[in-house]
Amino acid sequence: MMEEMGLPSYRGRQIFAAVQHRRLRSFEEMTDLPKDLRARLNERAQVATLTVESRYISEDGTRRYLMKTHDGLPVETVFIPEERRDTICFSSQSGCPLQCSFCLTAKLGLLRTLTAGEIVEQIHIALNDAYGEGGPTPRGTNLVAMGAGEPFLAFEPLMKALRIMADPAGLYIVPNRVTVSTAGIVPRIKELASVPDRPHLAISLAAPTDELRNELMPINKRWPLEELLGACKEFERSLKPGERFTFEYVMLDGVNDSEEQARQLANLLNRHDLRAKVNLIPHNPADPLPYRPSPPERVERFRQILESKGVHAFVRRPRGRDIYAACGQLAARRTTNMPALAQLR
Ligand code: SF4
Repeated sequence: MMEEMGLPSYRGRQIFAAVQHRRLRSFEEMTDLPKDLRARLNERAQVATLTVESRYISEDGTRRYLMKTHDGLPVETVFIPEERRDTICFSSQSGCPLQCSFCLTAKLGLLRTLTAGEIVEQIHIALNDAYGEGGPTPRGTNLVAMGAGEPFLAFEPLMKALRIMADPAGLYIVPNRVTVSTAGIVPRIKELASVPDRPHLAISLAAPTDELRNELMPINKRWPLEELLGACKEFERSLKPGERFTFEYVMLDGVNDSEEQARQLANLLNRHDLRAKVNLIPHNPADPLPYRPSPPERVERFRQILESKGVHAFVRRPRGRDIYAACGQLAARRTTNMPALAQLR
């Protein structure tokens, strides 16, 4: 763009750093640029396109942002402070076309896939809110593509966003710090297997049989478990040292959490010779969804059965439930028990 405007290329690098490293949100703030250049840039481009409608802060410190795109569509992002590193859970789509029955986002349907810019901007907004504009990120940042949307249906913008964020002159969040969670878009899992600099992969399973998975995650009718786990095996073979590959299993009271289902799940993964660990995620209640979280004893029993059959399993602690920030709860909801704390740009 700088070249098109007849300017030296170092201006491009300067502006890239201002946006991606200092996380400035307008040309006006780039006071190291000549005033007339800022005016010219303003005529041609826009640094920020998302606006923050509301921000909610959970008792556990988790922050949820309800943002809007320039065309008025909801985008949700969650900032989760953790002891050693912060995690930001971002959205890849506004709404989601997949109809997972345990997920509130599904109720919105697909509104639009986000652009690479909109994906990156969510991270800027969350970091600016936590540490101030341009402030360093003291503890480093992990990213998870587990907000609204199916990331593998936003594959191109997602990969572009990851390239932008990995730039050492920008945010410098490398793919090794990013986990992408998919409901099981098989061709993209296979494609990712051949990408050299790639994020970690997580597969949302939710059921040990096709019959139940068809009900909970209708995408299973398109790519049933045999095909999905076959692709997972292919991906597992491509793993390099230090790469992570996990299964996510949402635990729904009386639906997918019996001892028999734990054995079925272990047998399924063992039959495909998959060594990936399983994260057990107690469901987060979200009206009007008809599910309840599995009681802790049942989750623990499920975990023990998996372990006894050689499958590594961990129980994940839900975060930000009280502000509808937890897994499966993102649906542009305004919580009434907590006022929006700030109007941010
Ligand atoms: S769980 Fe993920 S893939 Fe399924 S409907 Fe919700 S956002 Fe979409």
